[in-house]
Amino acid sequence: MTVSQLAKSIAESPTLKLNEEARLLREKGEAVIHLGAGEPKNRAPIAAILSSAAKLNTGDVKYTPADGTPSLKKAIIKYTEENYDKIVAPENIIVSAGAKQSVYNILYSILNPQDEVIILAPYWVSYPEMVRMVYGVPVIVKSEDGSFYPRMEDILKAVSSYTKAIIINSPNNPSGVVYSEEFIAQIIEYCEKKGIYIIMDDIYLRLIFDGKKWPACYKFTKKDLESSHIIVVNGVSKLYGMTGFRIGWAIAPRELVAIMTNVQGQITTTVSVLLQAAAEGALTGLQSHIDTLRMTLENNRDVMMQELNSFTGVKITKPNGTYYCLPDFRAYSNDSVKLSQMLLKKALVVAVPGKEFGMEGHLRLSYAGSIKDVTEGVSRIKWALDPNSPNEIYIGDRKLVRDWK
Ligand code: PMP
Repeated sequence: MTVSQLAKSIAESPTLKLNEEARLLREKGEAVIHLGAGEPKNRAPIAAILSSAAKLNTGDVKYTPADGTPSLKKAIIKYTEENYDKIVAPENIIVSAGAKQSVYNILYSILNPQDEVIILAPYWVSYPEMVRMVYGVPVIVKSEDGSFYPRMEDILKAVSSYTKAIIINSPNNPSGVVYSEEFIAQIIEYCEKKGIYIIMDDIYLRLIFDGKKWPACYKFTKKDLESSHIIVVNGVSKLYGMTGFRIGWAIAPRELVAIMTNVQGQITTTVSVLLQAAAEGALTGLQSHIDTLRMTLENNRDVMMQELNSFTGVKITKPNGTYYCLPDFRAYSNDSVKLSQMLLKKALVVAVPGKEFGMEGHLRLSYAGSIKDVTEGVSRIKWALDPNSPNEIYIGDRKLVRDWK
């Protein structure tokens, strides 16, 4: 079989791979604890279900405009006004099959081959692969001190004449950190001067803890939307727990949205009208779901911190948002892939290797599950790594045997 060089070079999504491994183990009856989850447990909001069901019941399930239904766009305009204090036009919006497709579509539409995109580490696994998929070059920026907060100086060193865009994801997957307003303001000011696109991946926008507010990026530009280089990505996956509905969107200057619409129109035509109706229901229905989810996550985060703080050798940066934290396990291993495989095999715990996010020696642990998942998951990791642990433990009648030295 012959396949393209490019396709061959694209890595499998490690999170999807781990999800599948965990699913297969669970199917075999293994008591797997999933600390890799990138989705909450809640059901979709009832308003989303009813809205989608109502559309389905009409039997009128047809193509929609490639950039999204006018009524979903109306809901997105309201969402943008409420969350960003910014009025946008329908022509500034394009709806896609998840924020993932939004990011890909943006990169496809702005990059020429060899153009560079700055990605701040730790980063979401898909960014570098997506940049490569459109023949661009990912340029990873790490903070010099190894923290999860790259500095402006670090970014400036990475800028070249090929730099076309920078991707900012705050609250951040995988670290859970939220970048400061000053940092985002500095990036926007610099990039707008240089004509570099700022792709704000705001998919975790309102999942911020400790009473903090998200930095709504438009307040850091003096330009109007049409001349601004800010592109904002959002979706219903994370805030509404609607990961399976696959609805995301981008807000950009009209000219760019028109290009992205041509691109998307040739690939997927449009996103299913049923799923767009569901997203519309979520956006126009009760918004208290988001606060409930945020409070649950904040509580789970606190429990996760308590568990990890009592874990000798493990260093942790407290997350201020999202579902994740990214503790440093280098006291136990510098090889996070090996560590993650051992934990799945020996302790039946899913933890995503930090290497995939540009942070080797770390593991991404999710607290999107239950408190029991968090406590039991971390205590199994402790058992597996602590040389003073008993060699064997029982989970029900299943015997787990340690072999980490
Ligand atoms: N951006 C980030 C940072 C994410 O973590 C994810 C999902 N894991 C996405 C985008 C994609 O979300 P969606 O389900 O809307 O495609």
